[in-house]
Amino acid sequence: MLQAPGQALLWGSQDFQHPAATHQILLQDGIRVAYKLERAARRSIGFQVSEHGLSIRAPRGLSMAQLEASIHEKSRWIAQKLQEQRERAGQVQAQRIAWVDGAALPFLGGLLTLHLNLAAPRGGSLLAVGEGAWSLHLPVAANAGAAQVRAGVAAWWLRHARGLFTERLQHYAPQLGVQWRSLRLSNARTRWGSAKSDGSIMLNWRLLHCRLAVLDYVVVHELSHLRVMDHSPRFWAVVAEASPGYAALRAELREHASPLWA
Ligand SMILES: [Zn+2]
Repeated sequence: MLQAPGQALLWGSQDFQHPAATHQILLQDGIRVAYKLERAARRSIGFQVSEHGLSIRAPRGLSMAQLEASIHEKSRWIAQKLQEQRERAGQVQAQRIAWVDGAALPFLGGLLTLHLNLAAPRGGSLLAVGEGAWSLHLPVAANAGAAQVRAGVAAWWLRHARGLFTERLQHYAPQLGVQWRSLRLSNARTRWGSAKSDGSIMLNWRLLHCRLAVLDYVVVHELSHLRVMDHSPRFWAVVAEASPGYAALRAELREHASPLWA
């Protein structure tokens, strides 16, 4: 696999499969792409990403090694276009959050309802109000504009994500016999986390929308990279030590559509 020395493969949250795929390739970010290859009498390689996925038209004489090198060179563009297509297709389910008092946000697999009140504690307060139901009280005026509400929620959300992720890392690291050094939060739409051999972990704050079991799987996945950097069978055996049911959780994460924060 192609990867920078000392750096784990970043874990793409999904694979992409063209319905008429003839070949497949693993891109640098760990994103698996099954593509349709057509040979033609032409001089250059043509890349096309449609709602079906990636199709490539390549000169007849080009070797697979040369072709794959060109795909890797273009991998960033390919991954981005595939993701855009997927988002366009999934727009029906990826709901937009309404930034108003009383709005509900997907949170840890349940729903969190916003209560805006200037008298709420500084930093906000989260209350569990039932099975999979929370209310978040934030010191923001009930009639505040969307941008202000969103900023208030985002500040709380990032703090809460950092606190919870830290707790989960501390819970699983001893089980896996690894030591992590630092946690960074990220905002990518295509990547849930990454780990480097120096012990630095990156986790996506959107994971806070997911069930705790799914979030935990990502934590375990990244911590496991501190033992095995690639995605070999040896790596998955390490993941299974702390997350025996990881296959189902991985599938669930692949289906997960985070709401749009815009
Ligand atoms: Zn990985």
